[in-house]
Formats: sequence, structure tokens, C-alpha cells
Amino acid sequence: MELFPKRKRLMELLGKSKEELRELCVALGEPAYRGGQIYHALYAERKLEVARMTNLPAALRERLSNEARITLPHVKQRFASADGSVRYLLALPPAEDNAATKETSVEAVFMPSEGRQTICISTQAGCAVDCQFCLTAQLGLIRNLTAGEILTQALLPLEEHKAELAPQTNIVLMGQGEPLLNFEPVMAAVRIMLDGEGMGISPKHVTLSTSGIVPGIERLAKERVRPKLAISLNASHDEQRDALMPINKKYPLAVLMKACKDYPLRTWEHLTFEYVMLGGVNDSAEDARRVVKLLAPMKSVKVNLIPWNPGELPYQESSPERIEEFRRILVDRGVPAFVRYSRGRDVMAACGQLALLDSSTETGLVSIIQ
Ligand code: SF4
Repeated sequence: MELFPKRKRLMELLGKSKEELRELCVALGEPAYRGGQIYHALYAERKLEVARMTNLPAALRERLSNEARITLPHVKQRFASADGSVRYLLALPPAEDNAATKETSVEAVFMPSEGRQTICISTQAGCAVDCQFCLTAQLGLIRNLTAGEILTQALLPLEEHKAELAPQTNIVLMGQGEPLLNFEPVMAAVRIMLDGEGMGISPKHVTLSTSGIVPGIERLAKERVRPKLAISLNASHDEQRDALMPINKKYPLAVLMKACKDYPLRTWEHLTFEYVMLGGVNDSAEDARRVVKLLAPMKSVKVNLIPWNPGELPYQESSPERIEEFRRILVDRGVPAFVRYSRGRDVMAACGQLALLDSSTETGLVSIIQ
């Protein structure tokens, strides 16, 4: 069955800013403020069908139903973890501006916990960055996602779980893809997340994680509205990082660390460094001491140590003792460090595991879930 039958060319509402929706209403001969009402209904109230936007006059709803659309992904599968997390495998329709693209899939993970829920979303389908410890890298880059496709990954799980939502929502842009290589759509989505009249999430609760795309970090630094920034570090020296993250050959540690040092932090903010612990590869006491040295020039940092999530890659987990020793070395030298166990490991929803794994994937990766 075709999930997305050929679509009539209609105006897409999802992903549009308030200004764009106001302009769209004016073009339809409606007052501009109707655009603000659509914006509020879409993002603040998550009314993902025009028919549910009862803040609009019936005649306008009727017109929008004929002339506009809200494209939602098709939920191919939900994988429920024993820890309460849900991994969503979402099918997206082909990109409208590129007839050559096919239907594609991405993943989002909903993780409820005491007092909050965290949603991990993808910014690209697949990824070109080729980190050696990451299953997503094996997909290669399939395509960039639009702002609407990025937002729906948060809106959809929130709407599905609305009966049991905790007061605080965290969004982490840490799923498939390198967010800073899809800058404009990512920032268009983030502005809507952080807008009080949009999704209304505090910038303290939205985190963008990068593999270290230095021009993107410099560009993000100039944005008036921006999320928190996390750097996926994973190595303590260039040779090691070149091997684990080939992007390091383009932006070596000295260049990356300078961009981090120059990054303008807000008073409440710190830079987060993510460090995936790979047994016998990057988890020695010397590695820990080198990480301390690397981060020494920076004012406000924290390190998240992420135990490796086993996948189909040739790495091993670090032992809990090794991880604790690494953490102790950082903390004793004044670098706040925390061990972050990933959620959803049993359903391939954890860090570095998002690779569209299901029984019908077109990527050649085989099913290990059920
Ligand atoms: Fe891409 Fe992130 Fe995976 Fe690296 S870790 S390959 S940047 S998805």
C-alpha cells in the first residue's frame, strides 16, 4: 500500500513561522492575525488537523482544508522499552521540491521520567559525518529534513502522551543527523520550539548536539534565539579523534576547542561535552587527564560520560570501574562529570543506535528487535 499517495500541491502549514503564516493568510485575503491563530493552534495546542482549529471561523477552516495541508509522518512502528521509552519509526513523504527522493524514514525517541519527558529527534535522515561508533553513520546521508519534519517528531509524541505529560519537556537534537549541516531548517524549528507563543519550551531545555562543525558553531553563536549546545567529543587527542570521527581531520581539536572557548554562553549556561566510553579505545586514565587539559581554557563546562551502547559495531563497553575512574579524574581536577546511561537500549533507541532498525528497512540493516 502506498503510504503517501500522490498529493495535490497544497500549501504546507507545518514548519511555517508566525510571520509566514500571517503572510499566507494575507495572500488568501484573510486578516494577518489569523496567521497568529493558526500558529498558536499548531504549535501551542498541537492541533495537527485544520478541522480541530476551532479558534478559526468555520469558513476559513473549510478553505484551509481545501487549499492547505498539515503533513504528518506515518508512524510505521512504535518500539516500547521496558524503561518506558518509546522509539518511533516514522515514514516521511518524498521531499516535495525533489521528485527524485523517495519516501524515507527517521526516528524519534520519547523518554518519560520523574517530572519531565525528553524527546530525542532527528535533523537529517541518515548522516554523512561517519562517526565510527554510530550506527546511523552506516545509512549515509539520505536527505535533510524540513523544519516541519523536525517539529513533528516532537509534536506527535507529545500529543500521543498528552494524558500523562509531566510539566517539563526537554528536546534534544541528538537523533539521526548532524544538526549544524542542516542549519536553516533546524533553526527555523528551534525558533518555534523556543517561542512562548509556539511550543513555549525554555532554551534551558532544548539541546543541540554537534560532532564539531566549527563554521556551524560560529554561526549558532550569532543567533539571537538559540538552544543549548553540546559537543560530541569522544576522544582526547587528534589521532584518536581522527580515527573515531573523521570530521576531526577537517576541524581538528585545536580549532574546535577555540570555537568552544569563544562561544558566548548565557549567564545560566554551560557547554556540554559528550564522551562515549569505548572500552580500551578512549577510556584510559591518560585520556581523562588529556580531556581535563583540553577543557581547561573554557569557563563553564560539564562532561557527560556515555557508556557505549552495544550495536553491530566492533567496540566494547568500558567497565563500570573504568568509567568511574575516568569520572573521578575529571571531577578531582574541577571538571563536572556525570555518567549518563542511555534510555531505550533494549529497543535500539539509545545514543548511536538509531539506524532505522526494523524488519522492513531498505537500508540493508537487519532486524534485531521484536
Ligand atoms: Fe552523524 Fe551524530 Fe552519528 Fe556522528 S554520531 S555519524 S554526527 S548521527
